Amino acid sequence: MDKLTFFESRLQKYSSYLKELVSDIDVHTPSFKQTVIFIASTNRIFTMHRLGDIPDRMIEPIQFFERVFQNNPLVNKFNDYTQIAVPFSGYDGENQLYLGMIFDSTSQSEIELRAFLKGLVVGFVAFIEEGEGIHFKDLLIKANFEIEFSVLTKAFASCYQKHCQRKNKLLIFEKHDDCFISLKGDLQRRINHTDLLLLFDDNMKEQLRVVHGESLFGEIATHCLGCPIFVEDELVAACFFLFEDKGEILAARNSYSHWFNELLPLFKKGYILEQENKKTKRRNILMQVTKKFHSTMNIEEILGEIIDALHTAYPSFLVHLLLSQEWKVKADIPTKPLTYGEETGNKIVEHAYLTGDIQIDQTGERMTLYVPLRGKQGVYGVMEIKSSQTVILPRSEIDFIQMLADTGGNALENAELYQQSRNLIHDLQLINETSHQLNLNLRLADTINFMVQQIIESFGAEHVGFIMFHPKGESTVLEGSTELFLKEDTQVKLDSLITKMKREKDPIYFGDLESQEKQYLTEYKSMLVVPMIQSNELKGMVLAVHRLPYYFTFENFKLLQSLVHHSTLAFTNSMLHEELERLVITDHLTKLYSRSHLDERIQDSMYKDGQGAFLLLDIDNFKLINDTFGHQVGDDIIIQVANVMKKNIRTDDIAARWGGEELAIYLPRVELSIAITIAERIVQTVAIETSPRVTVSIGVSHWSAYKNPPSLDHLFKEADQALYRAKETGKNQVVVSDWNKEKGMEGV
Ligand code: GH3
Ligand code: MG
Ligand code: MG
Repeated sequence: MDKLTFFESRLQKYSSYLKELVSDIDVHTPSFKQTVIFIASTNRIFTMHRLGDIPDRMIEPIQFFERVFQNNPLVNKFNDYTQIAVPFSGYDGENQLYLGMIFDSTSQSEIELRAFLKGLVVGFVAFIEEGEGIHFKDLLIKANFEIEFSVLTKAFASCYQKHCQRKNKLLIFEKHDDCFISLKGDLQRRINHTDLLLLFDDNMKEQLRVVHGESLFGEIATHCLGCPIFVEDELVAACFFLFEDKGEILAARNSYSHWFNELLPLFKKGYILEQENKKTKRRNILMQVTKKFHSTMNIEEILGEIIDALHTAYPSFLVHLLLSQEWKVKADIPTKPLTYGEETGNKIVEHAYLTGDIQIDQTGERMTLYVPLRGKQGVYGVMEIKSSQTVILPRSEIDFIQMLADTGGNALENAELYQQSRNLIHDLQLINETSHQLNLNLRLADTINFMVQQIIESFGAEHVGFIMFHPKGESTVLEGSTELFLKEDTQVKLDSLITKMKREKDPIYFGDLESQEKQYLTEYKSMLVVPMIQSNELKGMVLAVHRLPYYFTFENFKLLQSLVHHSTLAFTNSMLHEELERLVITDHLTKLYSRSHLDERIQDSMYKDGQGAFLLLDIDNFKLINDTFGHQVGDDIIIQVANVMKKNIRTDDIAARWGGEELAIYLPRVELSIAITIAERIVQTVAIETSPRVTVSIGVSHWSAYKNPPSLDHLFKEADQALYRAKETGKNQVVVSDWNKEKGMEGV
């Protein structure tokens, strides 16, 4: 390359810079009208640029100035026009050059313009000198004025590619734990700390020098310039420029150093800033989630917060929660079930869950982290964090993620414990209330009714049934169960379940009867079955059902067991009691009430009612029946008569066996005339419906609060006397006591 063309090409460069400058002036300084700016050497003007429109009359002065320039470069005048110039030296320092101006001196001040030109020269020179390499301005613009190390290096790589026209390779390595990882460049690799140190061992100064890159990067790096970057005496990064041949590297060595050294402090600042920012960001995230976790006991909110925090810290990562608990979470929280112990299960997830240690899977294209959500008492799930591309997270990042997960795990544990204690309190309250109710000695049907309501309210069951097993093998659905269980076909459908319960005596949780192909109660897919066991003996079972599958939780199941366990004794006691009571108050043969019960009930009625009637009934010529047909038939006749009596009275009335073949009826609150009607109806019906046919006689007595104040003995005596008279006067009839007759109360 001969000197002249070299010089010309330099001028070409100046010219284009000048053009750029001029366009700036044009925009920002509208007072420069009709002005020409030029660059010249000592002997001629090379390049001219117009500011604004140039009038025809200016052409002559310009030609004049071109001619006389070399005689007097600094100032020349022609008519109204003046030419001035300010000298400067080219950046190689050898050539004397001028920046000059031609203007209309009638309208513009030469002094002002010369000052302006001088200023322009200073900027111009700086501007031209910046022409080589990569400078602050280019880098900052490319980095969008963000100076975090990662942004800067990315911008730098892009500037460099432009600078060398994509010819040469650039590698930047940043420290990650004990190795260095290539940040942006053509080679994706990592090198270990000592290897890198060895490369710069000759001189640990921050200085761009020729290094033997082939030992690390292979042949591609035979011609390599490298520079270490230190922050507080620690090697944190390194930059390598790879060249194709020796000539290039030698040419580059000095010029690269020139601009690269200028950028070094910026890189270091960026590195420190990035570290600080990362720390602050992490700290803020942790603070925010911790604050949030302290303010909520809601598991759903906590899970959402963990996900949000991870998204904030790693926007490109994909996060899923694998939960071990039956937590209900919003649809926007990405969850997967955590399965373990299964053939198909993810072994790495299992490992993270079982050991509580973070697991890193680098096998695929992406990196996946499995981070256990640890509490103090256990692990509550695993976070699956997938990177968007191959990344290597430094230890500090992994520690941060584990810290976040632990904070979340502890919060979940607290929330879970809180929920558990609330449930426990609720359960205890329920059991307490139930025990209290059971101790009230309610009638069995009322007790069951109460239990059924409790189960419906607490578990949301649609139907609840109490089925008792009897010693002889049959089973009955207890009164108070909901209507589904009272249907006869339901009982038939449950036969096989009852058999299973009798055999196994274990509580059973059916999540989905349909999928298990167990069609006990077609429509109902969820079923809880709990045995009632008392003194090791199976007394019956309790069932709760719901149409939807998996409706009941395992907690519900446990609570039902607890409830049934607590109530079975009360049930069996209450049943025994009622059975005993029934035995005592009922006559064995006729199933009518016993005499003692009748007495009690009449006394009760005399205490609270205004009136009442008493019917005493005796079978006519019964001895004869016995004699003719035998006692067996005699007994049967008594039962037949008892049944006629039951049919002719209301539920509130009391029919009793008075003794032997004598029976009695007490009609509370019934007036005499009605009592007589009833008695007559019984007399008539017995005479028709009994077989062998018998007749009965009835004596009637009646009390009323104000006419003949109540007395049990008197009521009986009067009825007895009336009965006697009925026998005396022909039998098969009703006779009213004289006591009532005397007072004119026969009413018939
Ligand atoms: P009347 O109607 O006039 O009183 O004549 P009657 O034959 O019924 O005479 P009475 O009431 O004195 O006799 C009652 C008999 O009923 C005496 C007894 O053998 C018989 N009897 C009492 N209790 C039972 C019983 O539980 N079963 C049977 N088969 N007979 C009984
Ligand atoms: Mg008798
Ligand atoms: Mg008799």
